[in-house]
Amino acid sequence: MSIIAVDSFVPDQSAAEVSACLKKAVRAMDQARHCAVLWFKEIVERELYKELGYGSVYQYAAVELEFSKTRTGDFLHLARKLEKLPRLKKEMEEGKIGYTKAREIVKVADEENEDRWLNAAKKKSRQELRETVKRAKQRAKRERVKNPAQGELLAGLHPTGALPVALTHKVTFELTSEQLAHFEALVEAFGKQGGAVAGSGRAIMLLEAMASLVGRADSGAVANPKEPHTQIHVHHCPDCEKSHITTSRGETELTPSEYEKLACDAHVATVDGPNKSAIPPSTRRRVLARDQHRCQAPGCSHTRFLEIHHIIPRSEGGTNAEENLTTLCSACHQRAHDKQKPACGKNQQAGPKTREARKRD
Ligand SMILES: [Zn+2]
Ligand SMILES: [Zn+2]
Repeated sequence: MSIIAVDSFVPDQSAAEVSACLKKAVRAMDQARHCAVLWFKEIVERELYKELGYGSVYQYAAVELEFSKTRTGDFLHLARKLEKLPRLKKEMEEGKIGYTKAREIVKVADEENEDRWLNAAKKKSRQELRETVKRAKQRAKRERVKNPAQGELLAGLHPTGALPVALTHKVTFELTSEQLAHFEALVEAFGKQGGAVAGSGRAIMLLEAMASLVGRADSGAVANPKEPHTQIHVHHCPDCEKSHITTSRGETELTPSEYEKLACDAHVATVDGPNKSAIPPSTRRRVLARDQHRCQAPGCSHTRFLEIHHIIPRSEGGTNAEENLTTLCSACHQRAHDKQKPACGKNQQAGPKTREARKRD
């Protein structure tokens, strides 16, 4: 990789000199950024952050690189895309293509048309490339709306046409016989105290028990009672409309309905805009109070893991008016979204890059 030497800043030079130095510095910036993405990819792929004592790459990036979650999500997204575009990755490694152009190409390129986009990137200026990519994206979107099945095939989404299945994870832990007996007695007692909804599995019970402990420890002492006790972080790419969630086990893709559910009641951070709540906090509090802090799904009166749901989805013109909002527990909320048929041509607007879903208990 060629290294561009940057001159240190000297004031009061001629217009031509200032412009030449600035151009050189911008080129160096571009090169440094794509180099950073490649190093970052190493950290993620080889899970080096674990070796350095961090539970997730987000933690690592926040502490060691002072990255916001949005920025980390952006880097992760580019690193993930490079995985599927080996030629682009190689050209980046060899310094033949810069960060800005690579960032554009990954929005539209796939295994089949990678070469064509690489050629286009070399021939066009950044501005021309940006416009070509924009037109290609609009064309792909129109195709998807006109012919959803084929559009999805083209975009390399669910090629079988089947609805994607939500992933589940097994968490195991070892107990001695005595601990197991104790655990079972505690689960039974917790259930009797009304600690969990009848019929919910042990996994839910365990989550509820821990949530109630964290809630109790916090009450009174917490600096900002409006802040949720825990947060989970979801990265959503408006270009490919895929969403990922990060855990200590790495990145997993969310189904569209899992994402829509989280997006209903989330804290939204975008790369170029201010952070904001999907539902204004005051509205949220009024809806919770109106619904007496209980799940409003028929037959469920859960009081934990409550989320606010849009009865008419936002993508179909539903608003944040209180009559369009209802309180649901996390499980009922997911069921509500699973039932909603994916509408044709929804998500017309580019969504935000990153959503932080708040889990309240
Ligand atoms: Zn919802
Ligand atoms: Zn419920």
